[in-house]
Amino acid sequence: MSGQEEKLPGISICIFIDAFGWELLDRHSFLDDMLPVKQPLDTIFGYSATCDPTILTGLLPRDHGHFSFFVYDPDHSPFRRMPLLQLMRLVPKALSSRNRARSVIGKLINRQLAYTGYFNIYNMPFSLMKYMDYTEKRDLYQPGGINSGSPTIMDYARDQNIDFFLSDWKASEEQNLKDLTDAVLDPRRDCRFAYLYMASMDAVLHRVGTDHPEVSAKIAWYEQQIRALIRTAQSRYREVRFFIFSDHGMTDVHDTCDVQGPVAASGLKFGQDYAAVYDSTMARFWFFNSQASRRIEEILKGLPCGEVLTDQQLSAWGVDFPDRRYGELFFLMHPGVLLLPSHMGDRPIAGMHGYSPEDKDSAAAFCSSCSLDLEVSRLDDLYGLMKGEIDRWLSVP
Ligand SMILES: [Zn+2]
Repeated sequence: MSGQEEKLPGISICIFIDAFGWELLDRHSFLDDMLPVKQPLDTIFGYSATCDPTILTGLLPRDHGHFSFFVYDPDHSPFRRMPLLQLMRLVPKALSSRNRARSVIGKLINRQLAYTGYFNIYNMPFSLMKYMDYTEKRDLYQPGGINSGSPTIMDYARDQNIDFFLSDWKASEEQNLKDLTDAVLDPRRDCRFAYLYMASMDAVLHRVGTDHPEVSAKIAWYEQQIRALIRTAQSRYREVRFFIFSDHGMTDVHDTCDVQGPVAASGLKFGQDYAAVYDSTMARFWFFNSQASRRIEEILKGLPCGEVLTDQQLSAWGVDFPDRRYGELFFLMHPGVLLLPSHMGDRPIAGMHGYSPEDKDSAAAFCSSCSLDLEVSRLDDLYGLMKGEIDRWLSVP
């Protein structure tokens, strides 16, 4: 690149860092000279599987139809007639529950289903899979990826015929950084909008918690990589606007609570009286008779580690799904309590998210390289921000 006149007009770069919450950002220095705006961003109740569709569509979960991976729906279960799973029921539990065995079988199932979305069987017992449907069948970032059929910001960019860059969420952070750098420098391209996907800090925080040197080192690495990326972009564009945001924070785990045990001890039968999915921070129930619903609610209300969510609460959080697809009753752990064992895992971990979105550690973060006219206070505001950025460059020849 030589003179200023040869530069392209501008680019807006949105950088997504999974689990880089406000509490964490606030405790570290992070691109202080480049980011005049740093603020908490309210999250949405759920996991990344809920939050990411909200970022992409600007909709709450009841409207985009994503919440958690497993739901009770035997009629539509893709696992119902899978010979591999029928075979696994004959294998002794000691063998079939090994992590290594589960991971191999998960990959075989995924290959058979050919889903393009994120697929993981986690710790779901093979014997229960015939009751379950899997909810992220399609790649969220590709056309038609959202369960409700709603368009995403990527669909908007496609419709506008703007040159934009989208990371591959299956690729490593290093690869995604390199691919964006290449796109920015590619003389054949005039990329106006970019979405950089960075997801590995989430795993670090789950493993070591929020207060660990590895976390500070990871934040310093992001700082260095983003600084280099922005410098590169500035060498080719007159104006480089960039935004950094996350989907949720991370809560240090200080206790575990067994919910499955007390429910199983009731003598009620899974599949006949009730069904349940045990996520890492909540249990979701479906009931097939009133005795089961009364009994389970009674058991849950006797547990000190969490609370039964009211319909008003679910509605205020935007997870009042019209058909109660994700459960008729939600039991949510108190912040920092891990539901264990769960259908997500059977070992304790140092950090978890998916607690009350109102808890301080749940808050996501938002940073901007420029001051903004619009208010960005919750995840669903990011869609409007990104649309505004695309529109800005559309009007520039
Ligand atoms: Zn996570």
